[in-house]
Amino acid sequence: MNQHFKPNSVAGRDVASHLHSQTNPKRFEEKGPVIITKGEGIHVFDDAGKSYIDAMAGLWCASLGFNNERLAAAANRQYSELGFYHTFFNRTHEPATNLAETLVDLTGMKGGKAYFATSGSEANETMVKLAWVYHTVRGKPTKRKVIARDRAFHGSTIAAASMCGLTFMHREFGLPIPGFLHTLCPDPYRGMLDGESEDEFADRLALELERLILREGPDTIAAFIAEPINAGGGIIVPPKSYFAKIEVVLAKYDILCLGDEIVCGFGRTGNWFGKDTVGMKPHMMALAKGLSSSYFPISAVVLAPEIYDAVNAFNKQGGSFGHGFTNSGHPVGVAVALETIKIYNEMNVVEHVRKMGARLKWHFDSMAQRYPMIGDVRGAGLMLGIELVADRATRTPFDPALQVGLTFDQIAYEHGLIGRCMGDTLGFSPPLIVTEKDIDQIAERCETSLKVLEGRLT
Ligand code: PLP
Repeated sequence: MNQHFKPNSVAGRDVASHLHSQTNPKRFEEKGPVIITKGEGIHVFDDAGKSYIDAMAGLWCASLGFNNERLAAAANRQYSELGFYHTFFNRTHEPATNLAETLVDLTGMKGGKAYFATSGSEANETMVKLAWVYHTVRGKPTKRKVIARDRAFHGSTIAAASMCGLTFMHREFGLPIPGFLHTLCPDPYRGMLDGESEDEFADRLALELERLILREGPDTIAAFIAEPINAGGGIIVPPKSYFAKIEVVLAKYDILCLGDEIVCGFGRTGNWFGKDTVGMKPHMMALAKGLSSSYFPISAVVLAPEIYDAVNAFNKQGGSFGHGFTNSGHPVGVAVALETIKIYNEMNVVEHVRKMGARLKWHFDSMAQRYPMIGDVRGAGLMLGIELVADRATRTPFDPALQVGLTFDQIAYEHGLIGRCMGDTLGFSPPLIVTEKDIDQIAERCETSLKVLEGRLT
């Protein structure tokens, strides 16, 4: 055990026994874990009793905060009634039926179906497998490759990580695996050329996609996957006409459009789904996180009728759909998700997010007038980002060695605010239950932290 942790302390035992996700092992061994002991609304508390506003809702997910009693009660009720059953071999239970129906309805995927899994990564991989079935049934079995975008995040399992467009998801694993390709990221702030309009930028992105398809051979491409608004790559809102133009290219070459709504879904962007914020028309949608406010590991894929028809046709000789997770449609997960959606409806989540998001954006825009290091404020609803730059006029980034984003995160943490830097872009994705007072407090702590950061940089 590491010498500087007390014997038998949680910190010492954790360092000795626990390999953490997305954590630098050496720094972790030196500093030990941050121990979170409880949640209260949008706040979490550490083991010293200090309270923080978690303005990231954990990992863009705890939309109803950190101790919602109704979700706890829904889980308890379901645990007492039926604590587990599966959905293989024709089995179901009413909560799973209710959630499937609700999701098909909410997403507007008329005549479609919902499939359940347990993580976002599994949902994304399920969409890829369904795309393969779809093309195979239609006599196009060579259509196998998937195109994602640079800076995308789609998960950690092998295909999902291969779809990521972030080197830190690839480097130690030798990913991406063959057949997973990447096209340009639709980042207007970093990607637009001098004198180019957003619309012309969208044309160029669509052309670039078409060139990639032609280079690889249209007969080899199964699907294109995208988040409506890229979360983990730095809160990137594509140009308005982006998806319409991309989808023309996809249709031309018979390529499916897969929507990763794992962050954007369930009100986050000021619509029920991110597709409606950006005008995307996916054939399948992956849902997780906000689906249950992450009170249970549950995810789903909602698929258009033609995708289901392919699964049905493939198995018409009597075979079964050869896919499934032990906990697909777990009764407690679906019960929690149903209660979550009920609460979203009661709180009129879309209106509330629009109002709160506009208030937070107003704060950030006004901070931009006071802090020249704010190069860009962007996002939609309660999914907002601030990009910090060395020179606003030229959009020159800070020297990466300065670790400006990370320094901001550390300062904000000391001031009771949990955000998330993605490089030098500061992300904010608070629980959707935030009040006006909470928003003002997030802004106040953010501004205090910016002031300290500015002092350190000059
Ligand atoms: N897709 C997006 C957009 C995500 O942000 C994430 C996780 O952060 C995932 C997929 C993967 O979800 P999970 O970690 O549940 O596998």
